[in-house]
Amino acid sequence: MPETKKILIIEDDPKSIKLQRDLLEAARYEVIVSNDAESGISIAKDEVPDLITMDYQLPGMNGEFAVMILRSDEKTKHIPVVFVTASSMREDKERFALLHVKIITKPVNTRTFVKELEEVLNGKREKD
Ligand code: MN
Repeated sequence: MPETKKILIIEDDPKSIKLQRDLLEAARYEVIVSNDAESGISIAKDEVPDLITMDYQLPGMNGEFAVMILRSDEKTKHIPVVFVTASSMREDKERFALLHVKIITKPVNTRTFVKELEEVLNGKREKD
C-alpha cells in the first residue's frame, strides 16, 4: 500500500481550510492545518509534510516571509510550497517565481486543485 502523503495547510480563512481539507481528504491525503505562519513553520519542522499550501495574507507574518524562513531551515527547505492566494499581480508572480513557489488563485477550482498539487508532488519526487 502506498504511504499516505501529508499536506500542511497554512490558512486563516475557515472556508478555504474546509474546502482544501475536504478535497485532500477525499483524495486520501493526511491533512494538518495551521492558522498562522509562526505555528505553521513550527508544525512543518515537527511533521515535515510532503507539501505545504500557504495563504499569502496571514495574521502576523505573511506567507512570503514564511517561505523564506522555511527555505532557510535544513529540515524544511526541500518541502514544496504552493501559494493559495486571493490575487496575484505581475510583480507578485515574479517574486514568487524566485521563491520557486507555485501559485493557485482563489477561488480554488475544486476540479483541478488536487491535480495541481499532485503535479508539484510528482515534480519533487523526480528530483529526489
Ligand atoms: Mn488570509
